[in-house]
Amino acid sequence: MQNPIKNIVIVGGGTAGWMTATALSTIMDGRHYNIQLVESDEIGIVGVGEATIPMIQRFNQVVGIDENEFMRETNGTFKLGVEFVNWGKRGDRYMHGFGRLGQDLATVNFDQYWQKMRKLGKAAPLEEYSITRMAAKHNKFMPATREHGNSPLADIVYAYQFDASMYARYLRKLSEKRGVKRIEGMINEVKQRATDGFIEAVVLKDGTRVEGDLFIDCSGFRGLLIEQTLKTGYEDWTHWLPCDRALAVPCDSVDDITPYTRATAHNAGWQWRIPLQHRIGNGHVFCSSFISEDEAANVLLSNLDGKAQAEPRLIRFQTGMRKQCWNRNVVAIGLASGFLEPIESTSIHLIQSTISRLVDFFPDSGFNPVEIAEFNRQSRFEYERIRDFIILHYKLNQRDDSEFWKACANMAIPDTLQHKMDLYKARGRVVRVDNELFSEVGWVQVFEGQNMPVDAYNPLVDLQSEADIHEYLESVRDVIRKCVDVMPKHTAYLDRFCNYRNK
Ligand code: FAD
Repeated sequence: MQNPIKNIVIVGGGTAGWMTATALSTIMDGRHYNIQLVESDEIGIVGVGEATIPMIQRFNQVVGIDENEFMRETNGTFKLGVEFVNWGKRGDRYMHGFGRLGQDLATVNFDQYWQKMRKLGKAAPLEEYSITRMAAKHNKFMPATREHGNSPLADIVYAYQFDASMYARYLRKLSEKRGVKRIEGMINEVKQRATDGFIEAVVLKDGTRVEGDLFIDCSGFRGLLIEQTLKTGYEDWTHWLPCDRALAVPCDSVDDITPYTRATAHNAGWQWRIPLQHRIGNGHVFCSSFISEDEAANVLLSNLDGKAQAEPRLIRFQTGMRKQCWNRNVVAIGLASGFLEPIESTSIHLIQSTISRLVDFFPDSGFNPVEIAEFNRQSRFEYERIRDFIILHYKLNQRDDSEFWKACANMAIPDTLQHKMDLYKARGRVVRVDNELFSEVGWVQVFEGQNMPVDAYNPLVDLQSEADIHEYLESVRDVIRKCVDVMPKHTAYLDRFCNYRNK
């Protein structure tokens, strides 16, 4: 080994801390490295990240998590997409479903044929060409199975919804089994090396000194090391994403458990609804310049499915990102690295991808600045592209019933997003740059769901006759309808394989 580091200290035991601990302890497998995690029960965790996107399956595979056990241990449910209510105009409803739309022909994307038929008034709603959207609509769920060959049933893309506190506890158990040492205590001092400002140790209230070579700051919004100690700086994006508070409250479930998250736009923000096996998680994300906390709480409480299980809890935040996610020997992961609001459930994914990037760029004691700069460049690219997708949800609204939504429709947006919108308007085309997170299909669904006008379609579509295109679209719809018919109810699937009462 070339001047390896030895001691890794993870500061924080929320979702970010324990995901990092689980991943690193799996990869390192007790060899050479010592991993310690410091957390303080007195501070606790933010505990509201409960909806995910499909890439989390990859994380679970890498760390060897069994899906059914994981669902039982976290009271989890399956998620096929996010339903958006009132986002284009009040009364509008659409879903950003995971996975594909239709079935691509050799040259031109499916949605281009759909654009043509829509212009002719001969296309069904976009959702009817998506297995995940139709399954969600009918409260059905099953995982994709290989034996279904080319059928849409072999292509059901899904994520999870789970109880965030149970998730952290579950990962803690895994990590401790794999050798991570947990240290309980409040850090009240951080020691830096005089020569270069690298962190040497954190000191707990009781005087315990925890030394390390690499520090991973998972301390949440406060950014104990990356910001409070290293003063790295924060780039503020509230001019694009103006919501700055959330009120969160769990409530009783009253109905079937839906296999999707819902985001309902209100007058000065929006409300999430995340169904779990034992309760529903809810929260009102809002902009404090347009609504008071009391009014926001009233809106939240009057839009619950069942009885509230607690008083709403207020969380303040500032959208944006740390100017560098890696500074000296500190890597910030989770809320310490930045915050994008949770409309598309991207924060846990950002934790996962930052861990994967850290593994790619894992340092030795030289902490090569060239590698750190590249790590920071990639982190920024990922954050900015997700940010653009989230801004689109706000910008592309036609609501004339609230000052907040009018301000969002009129705001200036990043050039990168403007370019995407211009291209879409021209010919319904989405250009995905490098490995940005959201797929073409994701963008198309939001553009269409929020009524983006489209001037034309790809002229190559006209190489097929209208009758052939019609037959093609109808056959896709028909196959999807038949597939959804044979799928089990989401609740039946959960009861059979993942019921939390069978832990
Ligand atoms: P935290 O959970 O805040 O953990 C910080 C840890 O640091 C704690 O263990 C604390 O004890 C420790 N700590 C801090 N200071 C000290 C100290 N001095 N000494 C010792 N220990 C210390 N993400 C999604 O993917 N999907 C969602 O649906 C979603 N919804 C969200 C809704 C809201 C309103 C918010 C605010 C966030 C949401 N997120 C969501 C984001 C998600 O909650 C976070 O990404 C995730 O919980 C990670 O948090 P964290 O571990 O970085 O920080």
